[in-house]
Amino acid sequence: MSITEITHWVAGAEYPGHGTRRQDVFNPATGEVTGSLHLADGEDLQKTLTAAREAADSWADTPLSKRMAVLFKFRELVHSHTRDLAEIITAEHGKVLSDAAGEVGRGLEVVEFACALPQTLKGEYSDQVATGIDVFSFRQPLGVVAGITPFNFPVMVPLWMAPIAVATGNAFVLKPSERDPSASLLLAKLWKEAGLPDGVFNVLHGDKETVDGLLTHELVDGVSFVGSTPIAKYVHETATRHGKRVQALGGAKNHAVVMPDADLDLAADHLSAAAFGSAGERCMAISVAVAVGNAADELVAKVGERAQGITVGDGTEDGVEMGPLITPASKDRVRRIVTEAEADGAALVVDGRELVVEGREEGFFVGPTVLDRVKKEMSAYQEEIFGPVLAVIRVDTLEEAIRVINANPYGNGTAIFTSSGYTARTFKRRVTVGMIGVNVPIPVPAAQHSFGGWKDSLFGDHHIYGPDGVRFYTRGKAITERWPEQNEASNASLNFPSN
Ligand code: NAD
Repeated sequence: MSITEITHWVAGAEYPGHGTRRQDVFNPATGEVTGSLHLADGEDLQKTLTAAREAADSWADTPLSKRMAVLFKFRELVHSHTRDLAEIITAEHGKVLSDAAGEVGRGLEVVEFACALPQTLKGEYSDQVATGIDVFSFRQPLGVVAGITPFNFPVMVPLWMAPIAVATGNAFVLKPSERDPSASLLLAKLWKEAGLPDGVFNVLHGDKETVDGLLTHELVDGVSFVGSTPIAKYVHETATRHGKRVQALGGAKNHAVVMPDADLDLAADHLSAAAFGSAGERCMAISVAVAVGNAADELVAKVGERAQGITVGDGTEDGVEMGPLITPASKDRVRRIVTEAEADGAALVVDGRELVVEGREEGFFVGPTVLDRVKKEMSAYQEEIFGPVLAVIRVDTLEEAIRVINANPYGNGTAIFTSSGYTARTFKRRVTVGMIGVNVPIPVPAAQHSFGGWKDSLFGDHHIYGPDGVRFYTRGKAITERWPEQNEASNASLNFPSN
């Protein structure tokens, strides 16, 4: 099988780069190396940021209607290339094709939100705040912004950032995950085809070295990061220390509470989809089910049944519902955590550790796994597993369930399954989590709302996309102005002006 050279995209063209370091990219379903990724060096970083800086001012000055024409065209192109993008995602990430297409669709929603910028960016005007004086405020782009993204959504997460950053008049440098970098290049080509001037959207591949360069470089004005919590914290600390505006979204441990009054079939269907979809490699995956009171036995039996019925395999094949994990290291880690949980006393209801997919023996597969009677001290609870493992915790009351969730350091998403509006309302108001689902397992907000967790799931003041996205990529100006009549008395005074 031939190995593709994966290059950067700078100033509107592929750019092989000056750096000599390379990293292998795998097809996780087959275990084969499919790509050789060019990693940037300092010279590549400088070239990319210089191109972005040069493009930024004239793009910021481009009339909004012209910028919107590019956004609308880009929307059409992403839509018509959904299948192409999905195929690239599946080839490097492993998730099944229909799920990959769904990811593109959720990213597209943010492009559509960005198409409404003439409305969302409108300024404010106060007439006659003092005699002859008006005040108005409006927002301008930051300049050059960097987006550093994780492996698990190679199209959606870049589209959480770039459409709004670009629409608001910034130049954007995407540093995609080095594990599935190719989709970003198709996005770059689609931006160009949509008419975006060269240098406004760039892709720079790399690892820690490149990220550190972006976080500290004087030409970078803002940084959007999505990834694991330790790196999010590091990115936030480092980039703010270097004077940049930063939003850094981190990891998660999402709990779903199942009350005894819930429809347990519905809950089990949704828990299984939310725990095992995309092999559990979603920041909004449900990884902990908190079964309240006598819901537990029946829930565990039903979820176990569903887990066993899931077809695991190569995501390109029809009928496959769940693909492999991203790397062999990830597979080993998930299996190690399940083994530790069992040794520590958890009940292994469904065991996916030894799953082998026929014809794909070298793929990085772990089957759906259900652990019951998990305790808070176990690594299966402490760590973000990021694999197809559902841990079940048993508690007696809603109060106890809320205590468990609020004591967890993460606060990305959570859900409750219940038929009581009162219970749901109590839960929504009391949990210290940023995104909450009621009988909805993965409450990723629609694009006109912003996405963001609490606690160790987000560092910075802004959530991502939606209205917070517009605020993040712009800064406000307030103008106070007077146009006196000819020869009007100035009435200037040394006192602070007041009414
Ligand atoms: P990761 O933190 O390993 O990598 C994210 C990005 O950071 C990549 O571009 C990578 O190149 C870079 N990076 C990695 N190590 C670095 C280092 N030491 N210094 C500087 N940069 C570094 O995350 P991942 O494994 O690619 O993605 C999975 C994680 O992302 C999970 O923790 C998941 O919960 C999280 N995630 C969170 C959200 C959210 O919205 N909160 C969304 C998607 C994924």
